[in-house]
Amino acid sequence: MAAMSTAVKVQEVRDVTRIERIGAHSHIRGLGLDDSCDPKSVSEGMVGQQKARKAAGVVAEMIREGKIAGRAILLAGAPGTGKTAIAMGIARSLGSDTAFTSMSGSEIYSLEMSKTEALTQAIRRSIGVRIKEETEVVEGEVVEIQVERPASGVGSKSGKLTLKTTDMETIYDLGSKMIESLMKEKVRSGDIIVIDKATGKISKLGRSFTRARDYDATGAQTKFVQCPEGELQKRKEVVHTVSLHEIDVINSRAQGFLALFSGDTGEIKSEVRDQINCKVVEWREEGKAEVVPGVLFIDEVHMLDVESFSFLNRALENEMAPVVIMATNRGITKIRGTNFKAPHGIPIDLLDRSIIIPTQPYTEAELSDIIKIRCEEEDCDMQPDALTILTKIAQETSLRYSIQLITTASVVAKRRKSTQVSVEDIKKVYTLFLDEKRSQQFLKEYQDQFMFNEAEESTSMD
Ligand code: ATP
Repeated sequence: MAAMSTAVKVQEVRDVTRIERIGAHSHIRGLGLDDSCDPKSVSEGMVGQQKARKAAGVVAEMIREGKIAGRAILLAGAPGTGKTAIAMGIARSLGSDTAFTSMSGSEIYSLEMSKTEALTQAIRRSIGVRIKEETEVVEGEVVEIQVERPASGVGSKSGKLTLKTTDMETIYDLGSKMIESLMKEKVRSGDIIVIDKATGKISKLGRSFTRARDYDATGAQTKFVQCPEGELQKRKEVVHTVSLHEIDVINSRAQGFLALFSGDTGEIKSEVRDQINCKVVEWREEGKAEVVPGVLFIDEVHMLDVESFSFLNRALENEMAPVVIMATNRGITKIRGTNFKAPHGIPIDLLDRSIIIPTQPYTEAELSDIIKIRCEEEDCDMQPDALTILTKIAQETSLRYSIQLITTASVVAKRRKSTQVSVEDIKKVYTLFLDEKRSQQFLKEYQDQFMFNEAEESTSMD
């Protein structure tokens, strides 16, 4: 059964990867660090940027250990230096058990809700609540199994199972589902088994306590307590992780849980949130739940305005606050909504409480490695000299532009019925699609022919 559940999981992971293929960061599978948290040169889709990756690894470790909450981390560097990629690497290395929300600074400007509401929802999406539930199970040693086949040999089987539990011998009537389960598990007399009372599912724990202890086929947290006579007593703990935002939505009468599917949650009343907070504190005190601060990633953080920064600053002081990772490619610039300049357009007080991780420009070899990884990700077979040209283009223009050319060049190659992308294909798409510098040049040369160009505008303003 354990093998089966693993097989199912592997299948799911593959399916998800296929769906994510088109994403800009789908090749990032982690931070590519070794056991001592040192970055390998190329690993888990990550290339170079060693210092930043190491720093990100330390941050991820602290988040995992639950040591930091309410801290701010700023990834700062030029465009295309992998800030978003590193944040994604942190998310992947933390795994699905840690709440991770990703948003762009501009997402707070919505007509449906206020800026502070949008930020509050993002923050509460990033706080996980692990709710523990105990399900009832019976376990014991199998004394006897009798399976009755219907006279005709077809139809559903039934039978009886005699089980020696901790206090007595119990006889169970077997339904056909339970018999299927018994056969799949190859249960024999003398085996120690567990029957989940809710589902009737039977799992075999083996024949000895040690083997039983290692058993965890469902992936749920399982606790065993050894009894005096070497018998087993088992409590099965099922842990669900939901976000505070999900609890808000489910309990908000105006929205109802269906809003979780549409994402159209609107504003949530502060009374609802206050009640949820009290409830969660209660659950925590009763040992029923655990609050696990996750991560809120705000890309293009300079798009937030001064009010939002101030709100964020205050929100970080809450004991349940998530770790906020921000990214920006801006230098010294105006804080949105003011005439004051600040580094990265972020107020000094927020910068002061942030740890800053800088990202550096890539070397030629690193650019080549990233392009190679993207080619693999997009199932694109690129000839070596085409890869060299594409690396040169990345150096001259930008990494993003050359990544775009991979996709377009492979379409051109397919058109001429070739399975490999050649230098000619790259040349063709390079002339078809302009990079930012050539686009500017083009505008300068032909601006008279465009509508609403600067020259025209200044004339009409006069
Ligand atoms: P911007 O400031 O413009 O938002 P950024 O620093 O966030 O840029 P990314 O979007 O992370 O840059 O990088 C551009 C592309 O290059 C993405 O597809 C990203 O996955 C890839 N990339 C960047 N750095 C690395 C790296 N070190 N390893 C692998 N892929 C990378």
